[in-house]
Amino acid sequence: TKNIKVHSTFESMKLKPDLLKGIYGYGFEAPSAIQSRAIMQIISGKDTIAQAQSGTGKTATFTIGILEVIDTKAKDCQALILSPTRELAVQIQNVVKHLGDYMNIHTHACIGGTHLGDDVKKLQQGQQIVSGTPGRVVDIIKRRNLSTRSVKLLVLDEADELFTKGFKEQIYEIYKSLPSSVQVVVVSATLSKEVLEMTNKFTNNPVKILVKRDEVSLQGIKQYHIQCEKEDWKFDTLCDLYDSLTITQAVIFCNTKVKVNWLADQMKKQNFTVVAMHGDMKQDERDSIMNDFRNGNSRVLISTDVWARGIDVQQVSLVINFDLPLDKENYIHRIGRSGRFGRKGAAINLITKDDTSTLREIEKYYSIKIKEMPMNVNDII
Ligand code: ADP
Ligand code: MG
Repeated sequence: TKNIKVHSTFESMKLKPDLLKGIYGYGFEAPSAIQSRAIMQIISGKDTIAQAQSGTGKTATFTIGILEVIDTKAKDCQALILSPTRELAVQIQNVVKHLGDYMNIHTHACIGGTHLGDDVKKLQQGQQIVSGTPGRVVDIIKRRNLSTRSVKLLVLDEADELFTKGFKEQIYEIYKSLPSSVQVVVVSATLSKEVLEMTNKFTNNPVKILVKRDEVSLQGIKQYHIQCEKEDWKFDTLCDLYDSLTITQAVIFCNTKVKVNWLADQMKKQNFTVVAMHGDMKQDERDSIMNDFRNGNSRVLISTDVWARGIDVQQVSLVINFDLPLDKENYIHRIGRSGRFGRKGAAINLITKDDTSTLREIEKYYSIKIKEMPMNVNDII
């Protein structure tokens, strides 16, 4: 979009002093490209569609926007942030807490798999910013545990996932319950034409900051494939790669929960240390696996696409697709778990000849080359 003013410093945005303090306290020095463009658009009150590559700071973009416009004296919910997974909703709430550290902000994460009663108690105390997954948020709105009367801002993070993966009805239901004047912010690294059309229902003459598809893939993430003769060889190849996985941290993606369990069991049988996470696990188990991985106690995580979107663990430098993703968007999101905020990263796709055409389609879709992996693994990152 043309004519959007670019703010190359946070000072020039003239933010509340306590917010600026929170931003610097969190370790940010200068705004990223998306932050320098979109924060002030959000603050101006316009509906905003903000697309930017993985790991470029979209969370802080909408969070700073929200914190600037929020009335910290009013106790009711003024901003609602929706995202597709529980872990992501909690991660976003943490960013809100950190950036709002000096603002005495009341914020809560409303996610499935937790006690509804706990949400109710928290909400009764007054939560100005709620980050949640659609299912639980619909629930608390319907049960009138969350008053939406004062909601000024609705953020849809990973919006394309929300619109296309079965959340659409819930999103619409939530949207209908909000004041008609609500400002909507649509966020993702991937926004196809179809998804942009779907956002028309929710937005009014939005400011659009978009990225062309051939620029969505990050330069800092090296992408390779390893050709395996048969499906069985993928496992041996992965075992051979294990030492390089543990240099920092790595995420291995499979397409099903069954496959995740199977692969984790096989790895453990060979005495490799791995952890596994997927949507059929109890939430407290998911939480403890996330915590261990976030603080570096575990280094190799096997997961499904529940981990594909938004999760930010800066130490992850390697992503392995044990299975190629079933949808092309998630290819970019998966590999984007590495190379956060300009860090180096690498992605390795394990393929058999059955996968060749899918890999070619991914290459074509993003105008990239996914080369054969060089012999010396140490050279890849
Ligand atoms: P995205 O949602 O665009 O994929 P995130 O919002 O998760 O990216 O941010 C990726 C990482 O970059 C996070 O660890 C975040 O703390 C960091 N980050 C964001 N903005 C800045 C900034 N202005 N300066 C330094 N680090 C930043
Ligand atoms: Mg994000």
